[in-house]
Amino acid sequence: MRILLTNDDGIYAPGLAVLEEIARQFSDDIWICAPSEEQSGAGHSLTLNSPVRLRQHDERRFSVSGTPTDSVMMALREVMDAPPDLVLSGVNRGANLGDDITYSGTVSAAIEGALAGVRSIALSQVYSREGMGDDVPFGAALAWGAKVIAPLLDAPFADRTLVNVNFPALPADQVQGIRVVRQGFHDYSRGSVVEGRDPRGYRYFWFGLHAIEHTLDHGTDLEAIDEGYVSVTPLQLDLTNHSALGEFADRFGQ
Ligand code: MN
Repeated sequence: MRILLTNDDGIYAPGLAVLEEIARQFSDDIWICAPSEEQSGAGHSLTLNSPVRLRQHDERRFSVSGTPTDSVMMALREVMDAPPDLVLSGVNRGANLGDDITYSGTVSAAIEGALAGVRSIALSQVYSREGMGDDVPFGAALAWGAKVIAPLLDAPFADRTLVNVNFPALPADQVQGIRVVRQGFHDYSRGSVVEGRDPRGYRYFWFGLHAIEHTLDHGTDLEAIDEGYVSVTPLQLDLTNHSALGEFADRFGQ
């Protein structure tokens, strides 16, 4: 089995090394193509207005001066001589739950894999920001990664479907199990813009430092993580609100 790994935290991200350790439990045919620098929050952006540079670090290890989507596109179209059987994106440093996924470079890299018709899984390690600094414990991801991937290897994936996995912020032996759950939602209405002054006296703004309000609806990824479970959520690229189609059609006399 040929596996492509990527990670929106960059080619040197600790979570990418964790993912490689997980992936090598399944195969030695591992290819890595990741952004040269951190691209968290890049979403599904594609670099269109500047060239993208490709750097080879090893026989099957590459970095791209672009986004996570650029990296997967480069891997599939330029780097690899045959398509992978599996794309794994992560293990991200931090959660990708609820509405986060539209911002997520980690999930978007898996979306790019799914668009190319490759079985794709995004993996993220939730962590507590308080007192952790840069030190993210990936123990839950390391211990549970293969357990959550193995049943997905031969599961039927519908077209344009991918899977989003999050590991709870717990030591591996305190993880409660795995739950298949739907995507939850956050309340982003509270302000999360922090204003400051740079050393030259100019104003700057920084997004996303405040804790987001969680809405722990039953059966959601947010609830599963809150209760100490690994969350597994199948996602589809069709964003159509099918139940609203009829009502909107009525407005246009259709
Ligand atoms: Mn990230």
